Amino acid sequence: MKEIIDRLADVHTLSREEYRTLLTEMTAENEEYLALKAREIRHAIYGHDVFTRGLIEFTNYCKNDCYYCGIRKSNQHASRYRLTREEILSCCKNGYELGFRTFVLQGGEDGYYTDERLVQLVRIIHERYPDCAITLSIGERSKESYQRLYDAGASRYLLRHETANEAHYKRLHPSNLSLQNRKACLVHLKNIGYQVGCGFMVGSPGQTVDNLIEDLNYISSLQPHMVGIGPFIPHKDTSFANEKAGSLAMTLRLLSILRLMLPSVLLPATTALGTIHPMGREKGILAGANVVMPNLSPTDVRKKYMLYDNKICTGDEAAECRLCLSRRMEKIGYRLVVDRGDYRTCDL
Ligand code: SAH
Repeated sequence: MKEIIDRLADVHTLSREEYRTLLTEMTAENEEYLALKAREIRHAIYGHDVFTRGLIEFTNYCKNDCYYCGIRKSNQHASRYRLTREEILSCCKNGYELGFRTFVLQGGEDGYYTDERLVQLVRIIHERYPDCAITLSIGERSKESYQRLYDAGASRYLLRHETANEAHYKRLHPSNLSLQNRKACLVHLKNIGYQVGCGFMVGSPGQTVDNLIEDLNYISSLQPHMVGIGPFIPHKDTSFANEKAGSLAMTLRLLSILRLMLPSVLLPATTALGTIHPMGREKGILAGANVVMPNLSPTDVRKKYMLYDNKICTGDEAAECRLCLSRRMEKIGYRLVVDRGDYRTCDL
């Protein structure tokens, strides 16, 4: 097992069978070795810095009906909200004062937010905060739309592919959504010049080890700048309400594998990871992650952006969230930095 881990650290890729061994035959000792190698690479490129992204969940209206998601269109119990431009700008102002230099605008696919409205919004944020990066995470749009938003000042885009396997994609989504289109969006985004993030949920219903290997190979071929992974967590108002959540151990293992596959990747220790274990985000950082994404949304809407049950940090002010995370990172020997947290190229 150690030889496989060493080879992954050296050549950044493995055969399907080797990935399978890593994913299915891991012992506690090897798990620690895997994390150690992941940290070594991460320290060589990013030191002990942890980048922060201020997450603004600006709308929970969504035209899609993804079976796993709490804000899916058919969830009648979701109380819908949409932040106004002024509210979003006030989140940015607050965030900037707190030391955030990246804003992530995330939301459901909300028809109200047309290209015109979004372009205007992105342009204002870009003008007011020229030293900040603007990340969008608003789902599938046309190539033209992505281009207009890029021209307006957005430079990063998060669009998890969710699963790289066709049949599994169908298990998680209604038939009007396709893996093919999702992947095409990622290619457009990359070609336009965005720093792109793909990713998937660990332990989503029906996910097999083979699916995970396909995810790893897909990520290897896309060579994204960021990869967002976190455990699947059931939401009570979805058809997956009674499914099991993804495991902490598997998520940590995959974070380490991703760090070794893509040495420079920007890898968040996600809120979902912090939700399934009180020290989940710390463990994620210690497995090789280098990003955290605390919430900047106004507290009165936090509970409404419930993608899954029991989401953490829904009652705290942004300032408390940042302080809390900063303390948590310091306790494990890392530090939150005031920085855009750009992707660093390296030849490791
Ligand atoms: N509408 C945007 C943002 C989606 S929400 C888009 O389509 O990209 C961001 C991510 O949350 C999703 O990509 C999904 O991977 C994750 N997510 C949704 N429901 C979840 C659940 N029940 N458990 C864990 N993660 C979930």
